[in-house]
Amino acid sequence: MPETRAAPATIVHYRIEPKDPHAHLFETSCTVDAPDPEGQRFRLPTWVPGSYLIREFARHFVAVRAHGPAGAVAIVKDAKDTWRAAPCAGPLTVVATVYAFDLSVRAAYLDALRAYFNGAAVFLCPEGLQHARCELAIAAPSGTIGHGWRVATTLPVTAVDAAGYGRYHAADYDELIDHPVEIADCATAAFAAGGVVHDIAVSGRQRGDLARLARDLAVVCQWQVELFGGSPAARPPFDRYLFQIAVVGDGYGGLEHRASTSLVCSRDDLPRPDEKGISEGYRKLLGLASHEYFHSWNVKRIKPAAFVPYDLTREAYTRQLWAFEGLTSYYDDLALRRSGIIDARSYLELLGRTITAVLRTPGRHRQSAAESSFDAWIKYYRQDENTPNAVVSYYAQGALIGLALDLTLRACGSSLDALMRALWQDYGQPGTGVPEDGIARLASNLAGRDLSAFFDRHVAGTEELPLAELLRGVGIELRLRAAGGGDDRGGTAAKESDALPRCWLGATIAGAQEPRLKHVFNGGPAERAGLAAGDVIVAVDGLRATASLLERLATSRGTGETISVHAFRRDELLTAAVVLEPAPLDTCWLEIDASADVPTRDRRLAWLGADPLPG
Ligand code: ZN
Repeated sequence: MPETRAAPATIVHYRIEPKDPHAHLFETSCTVDAPDPEGQRFRLPTWVPGSYLIREFARHFVAVRAHGPAGAVAIVKDAKDTWRAAPCAGPLTVVATVYAFDLSVRAAYLDALRAYFNGAAVFLCPEGLQHARCELAIAAPSGTIGHGWRVATTLPVTAVDAAGYGRYHAADYDELIDHPVEIADCATAAFAAGGVVHDIAVSGRQRGDLARLARDLAVVCQWQVELFGGSPAARPPFDRYLFQIAVVGDGYGGLEHRASTSLVCSRDDLPRPDEKGISEGYRKLLGLASHEYFHSWNVKRIKPAAFVPYDLTREAYTRQLWAFEGLTSYYDDLALRRSGIIDARSYLELLGRTITAVLRTPGRHRQSAAESSFDAWIKYYRQDENTPNAVVSYYAQGALIGLALDLTLRACGSSLDALMRALWQDYGQPGTGVPEDGIARLASNLAGRDLSAFFDRHVAGTEELPLAELLRGVGIELRLRAAGGGDDRGGTAAKESDALPRCWLGATIAGAQEPRLKHVFNGGPAERAGLAAGDVIVAVDGLRATASLLERLATSRGTGETISVHAFRRDELLTAAVVLEPAPLDTCWLEIDASADVPTRDRRLAWLGADPLPG
């Protein structure tokens, strides 16, 4: 960003209005009192913090015009994300019409049922004024749409009406775009954690038990506040917090912000009013909320040096996303266990699934967690048919690095909890970025011995993590088996009724009636036979192919058998002779060792927070 020229009193005025909900159009404006005499430039971010993909928000700016005291002012684009107004006297106002129909939490959305926006997708930043104070007026939609809507945001209030329409402010542009705004007829709930009010605002049709959600989230949030604060009296680093939840038929996602998070979840993931235990969907939703809340510290305040400050004009490269996303992924489910929301067996099931996901990614032998972080912009966020062969997830692999680091530190008398607190004290509270070698150095200090070999091998390198050995040290046995079918994500032992898979094709299948190879694994039987991702399998040994027929090959045929496959690649028919190979043992489950000795059991207790039941 260019040097600032904002005097302390300079204020940039913004306004937003849900202008035409049926056409999904917001109108936004930005007013600068004293525009640059050379011609004021305005810029829109190309990405939103927390989501490492160049999104080109400017592509949804459908019309931009400007006016000053003397009338219309010429404004032209001089790059994909910048506009330049002709030199003029102030105040200069730029008005933009912005198309908003993105149901993810990363941009903006508007229809007759709800309005939602991230500032990065709708507010222009006047160049040179990114540090100036911002004022935002949020206007109600005109006409009959929006009856019953209320504004839900953590943006600081200047003066608003009962529905929340009116004036808000932010210290600078960075803060302006870090408080997403939901405007809808939301169902609400609230709870306290760390002495601070936490609100929940849920849009979309649903009949979930929000009081239950509030009770459970209170426990998880309190645990996290204490983790970072180091005491039951600790307070979180914000005065209030908001969970914005958009409920849809089928969806999942979240984005973290400094005092709020935007989540998308499936309707069935909300707890039912009569729900006693925790359904798999509800556990997933709690894990997602826990993940985004953990980011309030880890990435929103403890930041990689490359994000201090954010450069939203281009990719911000860091090799540390494995820590900012991966350690957050490690703690999201662990916080559910350690706070007592789920039991140890449920937690070990989730951990077994994470291990399974990584074991099914041969790309981990090619790409390190550090490289995956660096190339997030062009690889993890832009997945294709070859991704499992070439890429490792810095979320899942980062979570396993977190597990291995935690158990390593615990063996040295410290823990990852202590490392997170040290990161918070050394980097988060002072607001300085974590240097690229910062975590390795801190970990070595806490361990009282040099851990750089761990980071060289498992973070910068692709060496397998010694998970079985580390878990044995806390009385947990890591078991492996072949996958029981396409929907087997691991985490549990094979059901006795399942016939044991003997062989595999070396590919994943999509589509039930017209099965298609989704991913073809390097060096596997399908690839060796010349089949490729995207091939539509029409017959196997002369019989019409379905997904279930292909799945049954694993148990009905044996290693070394050759099958004849007919497939279409685009519109050309091919035949291939596929020699089946032994099914890989890529499905993990974790068992508690009931016979572990007392010191081992005590270490398990210290890690998992309570002595798990055997079995
Ligand atoms: Zn995350």
